[in-house]
Amino acid sequence: MPEVMRLFNTLSRSVEDFRPLKAGHVGIYTCGPTVYSYAHIGNMRAYIFADVLRRSFELFGYDVKHVMNITDVGHLTGDGDEGEDKLELGSRREGLDAWAVAKKYTEAFFAHTAMLNIERPTIVCKATDYIPEQIAMVQALADKGFAYTTEDGVYYDTSRFPTYAQLGRLDVEGLQEGHRVDMGGKRQKTDFALWKLSKPAEHRCMEWDAPWGRGFPGWHIECSAMASKLLGDQFDIHTGGVDHIPIHHTNEIAQSEGASGKSPFVRYWMHGEFLVTSDEAKMSKSAGKTLTVQSLADQGIPPLAFRLLVLQCHYRKQLKFTDENMAGAVRGFERLRHLAQKALQAAGGHQQAVVLSQGGDKYRRQIHTALTADLNTPQALASLFGLLEDQQLSPAEQVDLAAEVDQVLGLGLLSPAPNMVEAPPPAALLALLDERNQARSAKQWQRADQLRGEIARHGYDIHDAPSGTSLKRRP
Ligand code: AMP
Ligand code: ZN
Repeated sequence: MPEVMRLFNTLSRSVEDFRPLKAGHVGIYTCGPTVYSYAHIGNMRAYIFADVLRRSFELFGYDVKHVMNITDVGHLTGDGDEGEDKLELGSRREGLDAWAVAKKYTEAFFAHTAMLNIERPTIVCKATDYIPEQIAMVQALADKGFAYTTEDGVYYDTSRFPTYAQLGRLDVEGLQEGHRVDMGGKRQKTDFALWKLSKPAEHRCMEWDAPWGRGFPGWHIECSAMASKLLGDQFDIHTGGVDHIPIHHTNEIAQSEGASGKSPFVRYWMHGEFLVTSDEAKMSKSAGKTLTVQSLADQGIPPLAFRLLVLQCHYRKQLKFTDENMAGAVRGFERLRHLAQKALQAAGGHQQAVVLSQGGDKYRRQIHTALTADLNTPQALASLFGLLEDQQLSPAEQVDLAAEVDQVLGLGLLSPAPNMVEAPPPAALLALLDERNQARSAKQWQRADQLRGEIARHGYDIHDAPSGTSLKRRP
């Protein structure tokens, strides 16, 4: 009999007992990245949260089907169905076609999630692989009277869906009144695009024929169409960042329940809070200054120390990312690894299941209580530190318990190869690297080569990877 998880459900704004649709099984859908640039460490926080959720269910014996999408079309720069498709924007920025942009950043995304020990979802689905399913769902909505057409596409008529405001507790009338800018052909402010028509003068890399004309899907329809295809019209859990509550997830519910006629589409909606920078701003791709996992590694920060930083904060609280917090987590990570490795050595170098003493059993219960209490990872970490420092426990018990909790925390504490990165290159060389990159983007090839030579004389090679440029010390 698996443990009962207690999870905060955004629908009810309260912690509820999790009851799966099918005993022993859980279906989870996670809104994945828009692959037009590198995912930043704020995005990674959202995926670490989903990973901990999935791993907790696995620890407690559930059979987990975890689906995550890759948004490779249709996500516009504006939230109100205006602006440009982010993939087409990336294509112009990089001088690559949109398919190549999507491939490049999808690969970088999975390289970064692997550095963070984020398990690959059971199914990863790309929006562009499910165009017929999306067209079929738009058609079903049109047939049931939930859609209307305008000059530039097909829109969802939110006035036809009475519970539209429910998930986000939205003041729809207030939104409507406060709205001044041109709505195009939209009838209500909250209406949103299901299918956008390509503009005659526009050259898009990605477009498809549909009953309403050649074009591309709106952003929200991909999640509804793929979730129902892969998890069913109704399933257990849907995750994302808190920014998805008022628009993306609200629209997903309207589409899925409208098309299937079944409610609820999702039983438990779970949302992770933001990672913010020291000036309290949400880290975001559009706001410019972002850090990636690779850029942390380039500074000598072990990616798993960033994972620890994330786990030290409950997923429903904002996490402030500062140099001091990060440095503290690096120290914590080194200490945890040191303690775990010391116990491992004392236990003969291997882990095995042991009969726990009373003290050991107390820690196991603490850890299970923490994880079942809406994924209280800070509490689980406190227990882990406690048990590794507890002289009353045998090393074999310490190792057994650490291995168990690390199945969820994913810090790789007992693995032989520490996920450490060599000391960062000197700042003067990093400045030379910046200069060389600027020379390259200004096509000053001779100057760029000169700088490469200078860096090489100091014993470093330049490493150009999809995730960015870095310096590697020559062996
Ligand atoms: P995107 O690639 O922009 O669609 O975002 C991917 C995921 O990252 C979504 O679940 C967002 O809610 C989440 N997200 C975006 N910015 C942040 C942030 N600063 N902190 C935490 N999660 C974020
Ligand atoms: Zn989504």
